[in-house]
Amino acid sequence: MGESASPDVAAVPNAVLGRYGAFLVDVDGVLTRGNDALPGATEAFTALRTWGRALVLTNNSTRSRSELAEHLGRLGFAVSPDDILGSAFLAARYLTLHYGPVDVWVLGEDGVRDEMLLSDHRLATRPEGATWVVAGMDRDVTYAKLSQALRALVGGARVLATNEDATFPTADGLVPGAGAIVGALRGMGFAAEHVVGKPSFAAFEVALDVLGLPANRVLMIGDRLDTDIAGAQAAGLDSVLVLSGVDSLDDIGRSGVRPTWVAASLADLCAGKGEPSRPRL
Ligand SMILES: [Mg+2]
Repeated sequence: MGESASPDVAAVPNAVLGRYGAFLVDVDGVLTRGNDALPGATEAFTALRTWGRALVLTNNSTRSRSELAEHLGRLGFAVSPDDILGSAFLAARYLTLHYGPVDVWVLGEDGVRDEMLLSDHRLATRPEGATWVVAGMDRDVTYAKLSQALRALVGGARVLATNEDATFPTADGLVPGAGAIVGALRGMGFAAEHVVGKPSFAAFEVALDVLGLPANRVLMIGDRLDTDIAGAQAAGLDSVLVLSGVDSLDDIGRSGVRPTWVAASLADLCAGKGEPSRPRL
């Protein structure tokens, strides 16, 4: 820690983006707020590509990459499914990278099933036939579904979680996230062996594999210290905390998580106004 208890920022020249070959961009609080694009974010996302490839990295597990691309497209972002790393895709790719094609039982929504099939995994026809239970957010969870997952687990299946986000923001406030589903499995005695969403190392491992770049060539841009920034830091990526979402400058000092750079918003970062700054703690 530095000389001061409260963080401030020291401006540096905005040659920052030119140092990297690719960008991983969080969604809520960076590109969008609720169901709206943040001011200037659509143009900024396009501008990022001046410097390198820009991929969306999100813990959302309910939508497949196509559905996420469609959703962001409606808000004005120029993205294709190949530009999107959702946690359902991360789960499927992680299983492929480490275990090859496997038989899965999904306790989650259709986005997870779609991505499993696209990565050549097999959906088990009965719980006992699965070697992995893939758990994600499920807005239609029932006792019967938990019982089926339990049958798979008692039969020897292991648990992989798309993410463990406790809650999920909607226009009506917070709703239970994937953590509620993963917690239900844990409550039955079966903890997740892998969690692939941010801040897990797995999220960044898959992202770097997709990009074909080493960690020091990729910049994570996010609004949450505990997921986006802490995960990037642990995986060896530089990061930008944008102040358009959850965390503020004051939170940096409290959290002990230190982003490489701080910017007011993605728009400011890309426009070169509001110079990206190094947090000085
Ligand atoms: Mg966010």
